[in-house]
Amino acid sequence: MKLASGILYTERQISQRVGEMAGQIARDYAGKTLVLCAVLKGSIPFLADLMRLLPGDVRLALIEMKSQVDGKHAKILFTSSLDLAGQHVLVVEDIVDTGITLDYLLKHLEVERAPASIRVAAFLDKPSARKLDVPVHYRGFSVPDKFVVGYGLDWQERYRNLPYITWVEPE
Ligand code: 5GP
Repeated sequence: MKLASGILYTERQISQRVGEMAGQIARDYAGKTLVLCAVLKGSIPFLADLMRLLPGDVRLALIEMKSQVDGKHAKILFTSSLDLAGQHVLVVEDIVDTGITLDYLLKHLEVERAPASIRVAAFLDKPSARKLDVPVHYRGFSVPDKFVVGYGLDWQERYRNLPYITWVEPE
């Protein structure tokens, strides 16, 4: 696979869209303590940009997941220490593709961590690949059925550092 020559979303478009998302999230959670639960590693640039635009009492939990261990399931590799019980939790995801990872995470959080509420902020959404119906309350951009990279998203651990969104394609 090689990096495509085109750009799907520029740095400027990303920053504008994240600003809009932050505005909406700030309005919805005004006066409440908000716990961002970021899914590593792909959400790191989105998390960093988003959290700095959110005022008030914002806390952070990190979780690392392995997607589609056997094509159907996800599993949790790491969770940081933060009590989510009774908290308003916003899951921060890089991309929702089949929805398998997010579905697993939401069920896990609801059952094991008993938060007051859970919503999802996904920077990218690939609706054409969806297999499970998962809620996405705040969505950055919908992307076509390509393997997108950049702004945290990798292909074999590469390209996370690109400040824009592009995709990889066959050589
Ligand atoms: P899902 O379980 O929704 O199919 O997949 C979610 C995870 O798969 C994402 O968090 C991401 O790590 C990875 N993923 C899915 N589609 C893409 C894509 O187009 N590009 C990259 N870089 N990762 C993807």
